[in-house]
Amino acid sequence: MPTPAERAAELRELIDAANHAYYVLDQPTVDDAVYDGWMRELQALEADDPALQTPASPTQRVGAAPSGRFPPVRHLRPMLSLANARGTDELVAWHRRARAVMEQEGLGSRPDRFVVEPKIDGLAISLTYEDGRFVQGATRGDGVVGEDVTANLRTIAGLPDRLRLPDGASPPRVVEVRGEVYLPLAAFAELNAARAEAGLPTFANPRNSAAGSLRQLDPRATAERPLSIWCYSVGHRDGLELASQWATLEWLREAGFPVNPDIRVVETIEQVAEECAAWEERRAAVDFDIDGAVVKIDAVDVQDRLGAVGRAPRWAIAYKFAPTTATTTLLDIMVSVGRTGALVPFAVLDPVSVGGATVKLATLHNQEDVARKGLMIGDRVIVQRAGDVIPQVVGPLTQERTGDERPFAMPDRCPACDTPVVQPPGEVQMRCPNRSCPAQIQQGLFHFASRGALDIEGLGEKTIRRFYDEGLLTSFADIYDLHRHRDRLVAMEGFKDVSVDNLLAAVERSKERPWSRVLYGLGIRHVGDVTAEAVVAVCPSLDALLAADVETLAQAEGVGPVVAESIREFLASEDNRDLLERLRAAGLTTESDEPPRPADGPLTGRTVVITGGLEAFSRDEAKRAVATAGGKATGSVSRSTSFVVAGAEPGSKLAKAESLGVPVIDEAAFLAVLAGERPPPEREG
Ligand code: NAD
Repeated sequence: MPTPAERAAELRELIDAANHAYYVLDQPTVDDAVYDGWMRELQALEADDPALQTPASPTQRVGAAPSGRFPPVRHLRPMLSLANARGTDELVAWHRRARAVMEQEGLGSRPDRFVVEPKIDGLAISLTYEDGRFVQGATRGDGVVGEDVTANLRTIAGLPDRLRLPDGASPPRVVEVRGEVYLPLAAFAELNAARAEAGLPTFANPRNSAAGSLRQLDPRATAERPLSIWCYSVGHRDGLELASQWATLEWLREAGFPVNPDIRVVETIEQVAEECAAWEERRAAVDFDIDGAVVKIDAVDVQDRLGAVGRAPRWAIAYKFAPTTATTTLLDIMVSVGRTGALVPFAVLDPVSVGGATVKLATLHNQEDVARKGLMIGDRVIVQRAGDVIPQVVGPLTQERTGDERPFAMPDRCPACDTPVVQPPGEVQMRCPNRSCPAQIQQGLFHFASRGALDIEGLGEKTIRRFYDEGLLTSFADIYDLHRHRDRLVAMEGFKDVSVDNLLAAVERSKERPWSRVLYGLGIRHVGDVTAEAVVAVCPSLDALLAADVETLAQAEGVGPVVAESIREFLASEDNRDLLERLRAAGLTTESDEPPRPADGPLTGRTVVITGGLEAFSRDEAKRAVATAGGKATGSVSRSTSFVVAGAEPGSKLAKAESLGVPVIDEAAFLAVLAGERPPPEREG
């Protein structure tokens, strides 16, 4: 049995190592629940014997020392952590302690007023504005010194380059705006899938993926990740009076920062508890990960008098939600076959409740992911779930092994068609090479009918499997012959006249989807929806595509030799050419209605966003006019937008353009540009 001093030293070592992995490398090595357990144990030991508490103890420090990969930035005001409350009792106890200090400080008569905010599970950052201009952005680091990530932060859409101020108001000399950078959940799932495909380690959770994305040495790599931000406080300020947290949030909103719209102010601790519960319920509905609610005492003078203990302010508390991780048994690892033949292992779990939902299956991406995580069948494992994202297995609890666990091996034959699998050189993924593999065909049909492609409502995975088993569907083109089998369909169990007619009507409607969606639906390797649009821009019809050589294809934005070769290979197959002709004969759209984009028009190389009503054009006409002039019209404003055309009653796109410093022109100026006048200069930086 170690002495308390020995155990404290051991815990400090464990926590320091975990902090480094988590804060510096963005790759945690232990589950949060285990980490939190160590922290609580150490806090308890230090409370029992204050001599054990040193200033260097992780209970007294924030985060970890900055990585050294970025220049250091000293915060003008330290960035602290937060103390935690698990459950209402601990929340009430925090309030009681705060009131007791207020009493001692002569603030006993002040009424309660709290602000309740989401606790965003991202990466804390500080943004310094001098004379209204964004000059520097930094991570929290160890709370005193962080890392300079200014260029990376500039890639985040929605962060103002200049403070928006009421007319005539002069900007504060200096203000440090504080907020949390996060990666939306859908982007997190996509990023992990792409990393697994490239043989890179996947991120354990959205927080680590946001931290990893922001802390890229090359800001262009950060720009590729759709990071977002919520701002929630200010640190040091000079020339700016803010009397309360609520006033701070209002100032932030007016100055152009994204502030969460569901933050509330309440007057009693009971209402605080209700708000925390409301956030816990909202958790599954929002597209960012939250791990709790932050409760802040509103009045800034009260906050100042309450001060901080150790690494956390006394005037705020994090109300922690039930964890989104759980421990369960990995019953088996099975393998599914995707539409491109990729063999994808997935975990079959002893059903376990995680963050309010029962989890039975979890993705494992590929065999390398299984090997990297060191998983064995029969292991006790940590499972993580965030929002609607497919649950993942974080890793095994190796200390709980009994010796009965067995290693996992990928099958050497396709589980669906028994063809020997192959692993193309240089690829991480094993594949079934059989083009007639039933699993691949069914998955391909499912992709073709999915929302982003031909969007055929009613043609889901189950229906496809049944139609396939009945011999009704083996190729995309068969979908357009389904009407010939109406009687057979109606006679099938579970189908009625109405559902069959709805399905056939949806099939009919799918013929109107644009040519780019047809191309995407074909499921050619490496041709996602964005690439399909880029290919259509250079091959505006099926005939143009059939005639295109690799050089022509490579002119499309984002299409390199690998993608071009993959398209060419697809088109070289006789079967695929027959399929395309059948689809054309069935009446699908095989021509783009966008005019070809000239290589030397007045808008060549420019990206334009149109907002509000124009007098001379409908929205579609305006977009076509941009394309005819060689430019690209897109629906959302980002830093790479060349300019925005604002018509009558422009929407939020105008505000976004202004906050990003993207030039805005009116309809008259737009007409002049189309007629050949120089477009406005693009934003700086
Ligand atoms: P924390 O995340 O518990 O709380 C403080 C942070 O909350 C702030 O720094 C800020 O970034 C964030 N925050 C989000 N929304 C906020 C809002 N509206 N107002 C104010 N702050 C807001 O504390 P921490 O020190 O960043 O991290 C500790 C947590 O990280 C622990 O819960 C632990 O589980 C986890 N951790 C895990 C490991 C591991 O190895 N698994 C290692 C270190 C830390």
